[in-house]
This record gives sequence, C-alpha cells and structure tokens, in this order.
Amino acid sequence: MPAKTKSHYLLLANIGQMVTLQGKSAPRRGSALNDVGLVEDAAVVCGGGQVIAAGKQREILRDPWLKKNKRKLQEFDCQGGVVLPAFIDCHTHPVFAGPRLVDFEKRIAGATYEEISAAGGGIRSSLAAVRQATRVELREKVFGAFEAMLRHGTATVEAKSGYGLTIEDEIKSLEAIRDAAHRWPGTVVPTLLAAHVVPPEYAGRGDEYVGKVCEEIIPRVAQRKLADYVDVFCERGAFTLAQSERVLAAARSHGLGTRAHVCQFTPSDLSGLLACRPASLDHMDCVREEDLKALAGENTVAVLLPAANYFLGHKEYPRARRMIESGVAVALATDFNPGTSPTPSMPFVLSAACTHMKMTPAEAIAATTINAACALRLEGRKGSIEPGKDADLALFDVGDHREIAYWFGWNRCVQMIVSGQTV
Ligand SMILES: [Zn+2]
Repeated sequence: MPAKTKSHYLLLANIGQMVTLQGKSAPRRGSALNDVGLVEDAAVVCGGGQVIAAGKQREILRDPWLKKNKRKLQEFDCQGGVVLPAFIDCHTHPVFAGPRLVDFEKRIAGATYEEISAAGGGIRSSLAAVRQATRVELREKVFGAFEAMLRHGTATVEAKSGYGLTIEDEIKSLEAIRDAAHRWPGTVVPTLLAAHVVPPEYAGRGDEYVGKVCEEIIPRVAQRKLADYVDVFCERGAFTLAQSERVLAAARSHGLGTRAHVCQFTPSDLSGLLACRPASLDHMDCVREEDLKALAGENTVAVLLPAANYFLGHKEYPRARRMIESGVAVALATDFNPGTSPTPSMPFVLSAACTHMKMTPAEAIAATTINAACALRLEGRKGSIEPGKDADLALFDVGDHREIAYWFGWNRCVQMIVSGQTV
C-alpha cells in the first residue's frame, strides 16, 4: 500500500457502492439493522481527519467548495469498488506471546474447552509466556496483530489484557497495548481483563483473587489511565455472577466503563450484570429467553463472536435471529485470541455470521460498524460515513457489498483510509 499522503484533503472517487449506515438512531435494532444506506456511484471528501461530504459522485463534484479547492485535493480512484465505514473490532485479546498448538491438537483429538482448561491448557497456558515476555516483546506482538487487522478492513480495535493476572503483568500488558496504539494509525480502546480466570497461585481462593483485582489492580490501572473498560469472564470455571458483579462495581467506582464475557458455555441470569450498566455483554451463546426483553430495553450491545464457535468446532452458534427479532442491539467481533479465535479477519466473521447465524450480509456489516461503535460508546465519532464522523474507511475490490461476506477466506480489502489518510 502507498505511503501516507501529505495532502490535507482526500477525494475518494469512483466508488461503485458505498455503505453509509447514515441516518438512523444507533444502535440499530430489528429491521433497521438491514437498512445500511447504500449509495451507488458515490464519492467521499475527507479533511481534518473527518468526513466532509459523502454521497452521489455527481452531486459531490458539483459542490462549489470542491470546485474552488480542487488543487488542495488528493484524488484516489476506487475503480468501482465497495467502500464501507472501516470495521470496528469491539472484542479482542491481542496481548499474548504465541499460538496454543497443543490445545489445538487436543481439541482436534476430541477434548472440550473445559477439559483442556482442566488439564492446564487454555488461558493458563498463555500466562507463563506473557509473564516472561518483556513489554517491548508484547508490544511487537500487539502491533503485529493491529497491522493484520488493518489489512482486513479494521481501523478501531478494543484490546484486552488478561494473560498476565498479576498487577505487574496486567499493567505490562496494558502498556504494551498503549505503546502499540501510539504507533498504529487506528483507534485503540484498552480494556483491563484481570478477571479472565483465577490464576494458578490463587487456586481454590477465587474470592481472594477478586479482592486483589478490585482493591489493587483496578485502582492502579484507573489511576494510571491505562484502560477505558473493565471486563470479566463470567463462566463456570472462571468467575461466578457474584464475583463478576463485584469486579464491575469496582470498575464503576473508579470511573471505568464495564463489559462482560457471559453465557458462552452456560446460561446466566443477566439482571445483576445489566445493573452494572455494561457497554456490552459478549458471547451470549446460551442467553436465556427471559433475559432478551430486558436486554432489548437497555443500551447494552450483545457482541456475538462466531469465529470462536467455528474454531472450537461447535455445532451451535449464538441465536442472532432470535436476538434481532427481540430488539436486542447486536454487534459482531473477532474475539482474536490464541486459544479460541486466532483470526484478525472481520470479513471471516461476516461470513460466519451469515452462514451459521443466518444474518444477512447487510445486517452483518451494520453489526461490525455502527453497532460495534455503540459497543465501545464511540457511535458519535465512528461507524458510519457521514459529515463530522472520523474518516475511517475500507475499500474492497468487489462490485457488491454482499461479496465481502461471500468470498470467505479471501481478503478483498485493498485500501484503508484512517483519519482521512491513505495507509
Ligand atoms: Zn473474549
């Protein structure tokens, strides 16, 4: 891809199809999720890092300001391709040292996630390597992941710690995220996930570890402004509902936002978690029918992670259709992590969502852009192509937006524009 442009203004011309996601209140629910605001033969003008104008090319080119300032414009020919708001990957775990190949082979041989975890694999097996790694080594891994995500169309990433599980190693992980974010052109939202699993040195003393998370790790991370959110893995074998609510309450008392992994393998009553005002509840594979109505009435987004179901070889996927019909705000993300979803590819997530969760390609695009922005409380700045929003755009060399989900395993993203600059 070409080097960064010096021009202050950028005109993206000859867009065959532009998915704007303009004009509806966010998050999108129900049938609004399917109405993505398509414009054919479109153009976008970017300046000052933001979208200045977006619409039909012939109308954009008639604009008097544009005619007058044509010399200041750098023009980029999209050659009839499809432009989307850049993807927002609102759930990732990029701070790890290496792949988990033993787990991978054990699973192929028939072991379940919980069996692998009980045998010392799973999250715990990433701990030792992260604890040994230096901050610089971790920064390079995180930066490499962000770069791979960018090449697949993503310009905003939520990035969690969670493979350190000591105060020093969680801070080192969040510093690695911060340092990688400084070098990366996109936007990074850091999340503290010290409550990922009970570390082995606290085996059988989960409450004591939760006390440490609430009374030491969260206050220190908040004071150093290393995270915007606190997350917790609420699941059998990880943290109970009561422990999870304690973690999220501590986060709120220190001014941090909240989110939770919940209902991945076992159902949970969501009322206590919803009372912690989470920006998102993630996985939601076995969400209880009786919780859907409450969820639909909240500003909380259900983040579905079908790449994890794919990689775990599950037959069942989150019931996206039921959630959409119930008015729940649904988003999609990669869950990029070494154990259950080692993919940086949002286009793959679109494919999995369409094939296995019966979402339409349009719904999947809305769920990875505007609704994913809502899951990070960034909908005022990101997730749609309209004047005043950040000019984060992804160009695909296809003629129809539905092809992005169709060509699975084939990355059709050919150019990224981040803050109005080609990167
Ligand atoms: Zn996760």
